[in-house]
Amino acid sequence: MTMDMKIVILGGGGVGKSNIAIQFVMKKFIPEYDPTVEDQYRMQTTVDDKTVYLDILDTAGQEEFTGLQDNYILNGDGFILVYAIDSRPSFDEVRKIRDRILSVKEKEKVPIVICANKQDLPSQYHQVSSQEGKDMSKSFGCQVLETSAKERVNVTEAFHTLVREIRKERDPPPKPPKFCFLF
Ligand code: GDP
Ligand code: MG
Repeated sequence: MTMDMKIVILGGGGVGKSNIAIQFVMKKFIPEYDPTVEDQYRMQTTVDDKTVYLDILDTAGQEEFTGLQDNYILNGDGFILVYAIDSRPSFDEVRKIRDRILSVKEKEKVPIVICANKQDLPSQYHQVSSQEGKDMSKSFGCQVLETSAKERVNVTEAFHTLVREIRKERDPPPKPPKFCFLF
């Protein structure tokens, strides 16, 4: 089984995609990162005592779905979908992106982790509640992590959770037999 995983970070503009990637890979926060820059990072990490090589794609700039994005989706093994809790439109966008992933992949389930980012913002800025994030992830059958790229909260956990999801998909636990003959 290959230990390579292609991870694609998707979400609306300004939600913190680049900083989530940068915090995970370089352990720093760049408050004014160029929003048009698309980056790819390659790194090795260990999850549950097993090494994995990650190719992380930090996407940028597409307000609307394009063929280009579909290519990213086709090539991705797992997806980090990011919204910012101070932006209702970015929350709504996550649902659209997830629908697109399922239709492009022609699958009912794809490894996805949602990041509800910018948790460090004070409550007067919040537009999306923690419960709404939980409800959405439950309806998708995936996990949501409340992250802060700024304060490096739950950033590593988000990637590690996704690695576990990709492993589960590649190496599913054995299913019990459908019929059981008793002698
Ligand atoms: P991207 O467009 O999704 O790649 O988002 P960026 O990583 O470039 O961040 C967009 C803006 O949000 C920048 O001004 C960042 O400083 C800010 N930002 C990103 N993550 C956080 C976070 O966790 N907390 C706060 N308060 N601001 C953040
Ligand atoms: Mg960016």
